[in-house]
Amino acid sequence: MDFNDTPEEAKFRTEAQAFLKANCAPKSAESERMQRKLSPAEYLNAAKGYQKKKAEAGFAGITWAEEQGGRALPPIYSVIFGSEEGKYDAPAGPFAIGLGMCIPTVIAFSNDDIKNRYVAKALRGEEIWCQLFSEPSAGSDVAAGKTKAVRDGDDWVLNGQKVWTTGAHFCDFGIVLARTNPDVEKHKGLTMFIIDMKAPGVDVRQIHQASGGRDFNEVYFTDVRIPDKNRLGEPGMGWNVALVTLMNERLAVGGSSGPDYKEVLQFARTVNSPAGSGTLIQDEAFRQKLADWIVRAEGYKLTKFRTMTALSKGQTPGPESSIGKVINANQMMDIANTAIESMDYFGIISDPEHAPAEAAFHQSYMWAPGLRIAGGTDEILKNIIAERVLGLPQDVRVDKGVAFKDLPTGR
Ligand SMILES: Cc1cc2nc3c(=O)[nH]c(=O)nc-3n(C[C@H](O)[C@H](O)[C@H](O)COP(=O)(O)OP(=O)(O)OC[C@H]3O[C@@H](n4cnc5c(N)ncnc54)[C@H](O)[C@@H]3O)c2cc1C
Repeated sequence: MDFNDTPEEAKFRTEAQAFLKANCAPKSAESERMQRKLSPAEYLNAAKGYQKKKAEAGFAGITWAEEQGGRALPPIYSVIFGSEEGKYDAPAGPFAIGLGMCIPTVIAFSNDDIKNRYVAKALRGEEIWCQLFSEPSAGSDVAAGKTKAVRDGDDWVLNGQKVWTTGAHFCDFGIVLARTNPDVEKHKGLTMFIIDMKAPGVDVRQIHQASGGRDFNEVYFTDVRIPDKNRLGEPGMGWNVALVTLMNERLAVGGSSGPDYKEVLQFARTVNSPAGSGTLIQDEAFRQKLADWIVRAEGYKLTKFRTMTALSKGQTPGPESSIGKVINANQMMDIANTAIESMDYFGIISDPEHAPAEAAFHQSYMWAPGLRIAGGTDEILKNIIAERVLGLPQDVRVDKGVAFKDLPTGR
């Protein structure tokens, strides 16, 4: 493992830091997070403006080929920028899925006409993309999707429903996984398409979350026509295309999205202990927890270095990168829970105007369960770690060799 930047990487990091310092405010538990300060429309505008500057400065599409507007740098540079950007209130969220997962898939599976039409506009933040994979009965087992597309002349006709589609309500395009052949095994009868989110028959309904946000959607399709030229990969090869999307998700090993132990340490020096004996940092039980978090965070950092070392050698990170998300998401929840408890009655207040630390811990407590589900639940990631890192026996697969249409369902 090599923990240090090479001279080229260090130079790039300095350039990235200068760009971020000039364009964003540093993140802290005390600072009001930008997303909560602005209305959704204002935030989206700020995000589009930031993405444009990022593209002009050469920090968007860092790993993409130069003809796609990128810098053709190895993935480690993307990780470096992500880890620096994570320290700032950078409004990058609306582009994470599109540029991190959808467009790399479009680049890998489409011809020049399609690439010329979509890639540059996405990179400059002019068009935003979403990922339409999960369905009410196909989340962890995404290959069990029932949304179907039937060929009709030069088009495909799409019917069905997706759910938990992040950002669908403000997105222009998406990549959608659909069943095109129910007569073969579930993984073999899927096809991936580019879908115009404003096309007739696409109905986007926002989901109201417990946290008060509305980030996700149900998306219904009724006879939506998709031209065959918007197909990504061959019919029936959708699962292979989806794997490329999901592999790109694995590269997102940048900064954590919630207050970490350093922020809770700072906070603990200023609030009184609910036990009534000085500040929280003087509380022995709290100090023990803090020590656990530090040990776990350092372990996570070293595990992440394995991924970064693989990336800097031009290798694809392996399944061990699943370890990071399990640790990070659970740690975030534990830190936020402890911080809320330590605020006693005030812990219940979620209004940033009145809550201590402007409700940063409250927000991260509400967000952490989502992080434990998105991109693979804790249990699924533990299965991956057990089977593919530790070499334990495989989970039972009762659907092997069975045509999708013959799989038993509840209805
Ligand atoms: C914040 C967030 C953003 C998201 N954004 C998107 C998006 O943009 N696009 C999109 O397509 N989807 C998105 N999703 C959906 C996400 O991919 C799914 O929620 C996730 O894959 C889990 O699927 P599910 O919700 O259907 O749960 P299920 O798969 O039904 O799981 C229910 C429970 O059963 C457990 N379980 C399931 N299978 C197994 C097994 N084999 N072994 C052990 N335990 C098992 C799970 O761990 C879980 O606890 C998002 C989800 C979240 C929380």
